[in-house]
Amino acid sequence: MTERIKSDKKKVWPGLQTALEREEVLLAPYAMYSRDSAGRKYQEQEHPYRGPFQRDRDRVIHSAAYRRLSDKTQVFTGEMGDYHRTRLTHTMEVASIARTIGRALRLNEDLIEALALLHDIGHPPFGHAGEDALDECLADFGGFSHNQYALCLVEELEERYHQFPGLNLSQEVLDGQESRVDKTKVGTGRLLEAQVVDVADSVTYDSHDTDDAVQLGLVPLDALMETSLVREAERRVTDRCGQLSGDLLRKSVVHELIDWQVSEVLAASGTSLDRRSFTSAREASASDYRIGPGPELAEQKAELEAFLYEQVYHHPELVRVRRVAQKQLRQMFVGYGHRPELLPSRFYARIGQTGQERSVGDYLAGMTDRYCQQQYQRFFSG
Ligand code: MG
Repeated sequence: MTERIKSDKKKVWPGLQTALEREEVLLAPYAMYSRDSAGRKYQEQEHPYRGPFQRDRDRVIHSAAYRRLSDKTQVFTGEMGDYHRTRLTHTMEVASIARTIGRALRLNEDLIEALALLHDIGHPPFGHAGEDALDECLADFGGFSHNQYALCLVEELEERYHQFPGLNLSQEVLDGQESRVDKTKVGTGRLLEAQVVDVADSVTYDSHDTDDAVQLGLVPLDALMETSLVREAERRVTDRCGQLSGDLLRKSVVHELIDWQVSEVLAASGTSLDRRSFTSAREASASDYRIGPGPELAEQKAELEAFLYEQVYHHPELVRVRRVAQKQLRQMFVGYGHRPELLPSRFYARIGQTGQERSVGDYLAGMTDRYCQQQYQRFFSG
């Protein structure tokens, strides 16, 4: 049973501003207010000074799956250097940029942060390569999607509370993640807070993949200047700072890429949001209004993404690492299938409920890159 949050808890001490009071002061009418939340699956006492979405954020941060992001591949693997983003630092950058956009638009930052910290929590080891391998292994059993697996983690697999399985997150957080599962639904009926996280994700990876690829020497910055987004960012940097070179130029261009994209998104989205005068979050999410880059920036982003896809994500060095990782995962999937007694007891016990293949897949998906390699060496490399 879900229960709406009717009112603030009694104040624990005089002068304390509660989360709901803060929202009344800070949020725009089209933001998602905690007081309008559909609540949690398992009813809980409200916290005296932390709002429900703030608690969701904290629950994600304290989860094991979130910590494991520190050793999960974003794009580049550990052996390639020590500069590039991990899945965790990517997630933190997304949360930071999403909060910047959300605060400027007077949206619910706590909800945005919870959604941002959650958005990649379901990634298996070795990034999209790992996801493709697991999807292939589970093809006859419903496939594998990191967005779906994120829901499995926070609704079932995370064990933190004696009263219920999972993290018992607010319905709006679960809905936001759910709408990422089916890409055809992305953009339809989504809260503005969830839309902000998608935009921030894209701003983030376009910028940091450019940074990482150049720093790791996979592609020179000059080659990236073929794309109008990077070329324009470089021109802006040079106009402002004069002729820079080397690391300083790269870092300044990346900074400009983020700042410019966020400013463009705010200019494109903020003005039209103001014109629409939505009076509630539901009205805004049910409309055809979308937060995102304007058409020109969207085209430039697509050009950069096509470049990164060709020149970076399919760089021979990454393809090699990816093949090794996928082969290991496939061998482990088959190996645990033959010897399910090697599974931790909770995954072994889940076989009756989910089927052996899904339980093995869920176990593998939860692993960090390093743990996955260790388990491979330990049981299956011979
Ligand atoms: Mg992401």
